[in-house]
Amino acid sequence: MSLNEDRARHLSGVGRGVLLIIVAIAFASFVAAGALDKAYALAGFAIVAVAAFVAMRTGNERARSIQPLAVSERTNDPLRAIVGGLPDPVIALDRDRRVLALNEPARALAPALRQGEPVSLALRMPELIEAVGRAFARGEEQRIEYSERVPVDRWFQAVVMPVRRTPDATKPDLVLLTFRDLTPLRRVEEMRADFVANASHELRTPLAALSGFIETLQGSARDDTKARERFLAIMQQQASRMARLIDDLLSLSRIELNAHRRPDRPVDLVPIVRQVADGLQTLARDRGVAVNVEASGAQTVLGDRDELVRLFENLVENALKYGSTGKRVDIKLVPVKTEEGEPEVQVSVRDYGPGIAPEHLPRLTERFYRVNVRESRDQGGTGLGLALVKHILNRHRGRLSIDSTAGAGATFTVSLPTVEPAAVQ
Ligand code: ADP
Repeated sequence: MSLNEDRARHLSGVGRGVLLIIVAIAFASFVAAGALDKAYALAGFAIVAVAAFVAMRTGNERARSIQPLAVSERTNDPLRAIVGGLPDPVIALDRDRRVLALNEPARALAPALRQGEPVSLALRMPELIEAVGRAFARGEEQRIEYSERVPVDRWFQAVVMPVRRTPDATKPDLVLLTFRDLTPLRRVEEMRADFVANASHELRTPLAALSGFIETLQGSARDDTKARERFLAIMQQQASRMARLIDDLLSLSRIELNAHRRPDRPVDLVPIVRQVADGLQTLARDRGVAVNVEASGAQTVLGDRDELVRLFENLVENALKYGSTGKRVDIKLVPVKTEEGEPEVQVSVRDYGPGIAPEHLPRLTERFYRVNVRESRDQGGTGLGLALVKHILNRHRGRLSIDSTAGAGATFTVSLPTVEPAAVQ
């Protein structure tokens, strides 16, 4: 019931009270004036009072029967209380498609929705209104999916559930409209589809090159020793590119599988970083780059040793591959405190190469994202290195920050929470 009807009922009750007082005064003055016997006056007043009471009861009953499902503005109304307490957007509609009750999430979804008003004024979706019509007519649950394009792409599922107040009612008295935001699910589906498409594309390219060379070697180049040597070298390159890609894909899925399990073994990062730098000495020498490691004391974190090796290998290898013109790579391990006072270690890998333009920085950790695809392929890159870094860090509750000014090199800084070596176990 609307607030106005409630108030009208209250006012008519007050009016009847005043009327009874006036009638009582009238009868009393007749008695005082000797115009009416006391007994007759009392009986007359009783009849008027009973008539007024009966009229009031009938009025209430009628009001209730006209709108048996009406929701009062009082907060103790059960329908509104239930709808209001649900976490997803919910709207209750009467047979005239008017809003009986709605909750805050529904208001956020369609701010124009008003209690007592037709739902079609706020939700201008013919398919939804048709589904409500079908739910009332057939008494069966209806489900529809729809999308919104403005201001951003969003997908929803709406479930229209008919509700009967009594089990023997032939038609539903109201419907409950609930909404589920399918946007995050759709995004994940899209990302998976993109990922499969990208991975297949990345694998197909070297595979096509291999098949092409095999054909050439079987045909025109069969007796050309020089060409055979050259083609075999390219084939080996392509085969190892495929192997790297498969290796990175498997690592990514393994790390993702374990994402929720935080590593619990204490490991010192200093020897790990030194081992990575030593392991990449050949590459550094080939590129004419000097690698310096600066660290003092142990930096113990709870981690997975192999994953941490992989993480720093990717960062240092990138610095050597993409920043080799700077001729120097500096790796520093610095103990710091977070804003909350927690101890952590910051490991920065700095190169002095061409750097990265700012528009690329936010996307670098996306799978297969590369600033320059050709350069990455020439360097033997898969486009998955920084995605792996991000996933490893997520598992270790760490962070990656990238600072770069085009032309002045790039700094990749990893922050990881540290523990006291003595405090462990
Ligand atoms: P890739 O296998 O291509 O190296 P990554 O995910 O490791 O893939 O890196 C993504 C891209 O980020 C690279 O292709 C490169 O364009 C850019 N990049 C990474 N590190 C550096 C760096 N130190 N300097 C300049 N560009 C970099």
